[in-house]
Amino acid sequence: MKVMCVVGTRPEAIKMAPVILALRESPWCALTVVATAQHRQMLDQVFGLFGITADIDLNLMRDNQTLADVTARALTGLDQVLAELKPDAVVAQGDTTTVLATAMACFYRRIPFCHVEAGLRTHNLEQPFPEEFNRMVASVVTRLHFAPTEGARDHLLNEHVPPANIHVTGNTVIDALLWMAAKQPTLPVQVTPGRRLILLTVHRRENFGEPLANICRAALSLVRNNPDVELLLPVHPNPHVKETVARMFGGQDRIHLTAPLEYDQFVAAMQRSYLIMTDSGGVQEEAPSLRKPVLVMREATERPEAITAGVALLVGTHENNIREQAQRLLDDDRHYATMASGASPYGDGAATQRIIGLLRGLAPA
Ligand code: UDP
Repeated sequence: MKVMCVVGTRPEAIKMAPVILALRESPWCALTVVATAQHRQMLDQVFGLFGITADIDLNLMRDNQTLADVTARALTGLDQVLAELKPDAVVAQGDTTTVLATAMACFYRRIPFCHVEAGLRTHNLEQPFPEEFNRMVASVVTRLHFAPTEGARDHLLNEHVPPANIHVTGNTVIDALLWMAAKQPTLPVQVTPGRRLILLTVHRRENFGEPLANICRAALSLVRNNPDVELLLPVHPNPHVKETVARMFGGQDRIHLTAPLEYDQFVAAMQRSYLIMTDSGGVQEEAPSLRKPVLVMREATERPEAITAGVALLVGTHENNIREQAQRLLDDDRHYATMASGASPYGDGAATQRIIGLLRGLAPA
């Protein structure tokens, strides 16, 4: 059976890596890995760590690329690859432009498209950000929906996806996380023993501008007010993020600003952390598996399960609320213990095996 996996960005590489590795070891599968390289450097980092090389690299990234540019180039590039390879199934993950283009290209060529992490929804198409649109359009043409949770399955059912095409598999990010954690990675910065580490990540477009400045102000005051706290902020390469972070932070004691960490280093940072503050989807999913409380700095999330389970808090992007919720976790041991004790709602580390089994079912007779 010919299977093609398409990957564009860092989170896609992390979440697809376990699937790619498992397919590569499956004797029934002839695998082709296609990188659109929508984000070049961070994708390469992850592939390197997991020992994956793309068989075909469309290398789409350009300076100042617009969404229309990337979509058009990805669609044309992927269409040519599909025409040449004629795979029996194509797999992609998430909600990026790469996923949208892959799903559309498969639709035009009548090739089954299989969606990893299907069914996430914010129910908000008002925002100028493409994720919800990408997810929804991909779902319309998906043959196998690998939903990470029951909630994701329900969204798809509400959109009249046939139940037989939806499978709740768990999220492959947990498989990747456990794989990497087992390697006992090391932290790339020195954190003074006994001090509590707050790990902070921000990269989401909806937070550019004032929300990001608020987040930085809250983080700064947490460090100033708590002498036993250190902050680690791997700075996302997006110019908006870099510029705001550079303006807000500078040479303060107990604050570590780094380039984006390699995934193994980032896993070590999550393990060493006391508390994680993030607007990232993947980090939100990973933190509960490591029993780390996570503050989600967004106004809404398409991943409500950890919040419902009481292991994550949606704190918005106002400085005071972020600071107060973090301070409460630093001061109130009972509250901390409750948030750090729940099980992960995102998976048990076996999502990949479920997905591989289902993909095999698409093999031509
Ligand atoms: N991550 C990483 N290095 C970093 C920050 C994050 O390897 O410096 C990983 C993190 O563990 C998670 C993924 O990148 O698996 C999340 O990517 P990102 O936050 O860019 O995107 P999102 O998940 O929000 O789509």
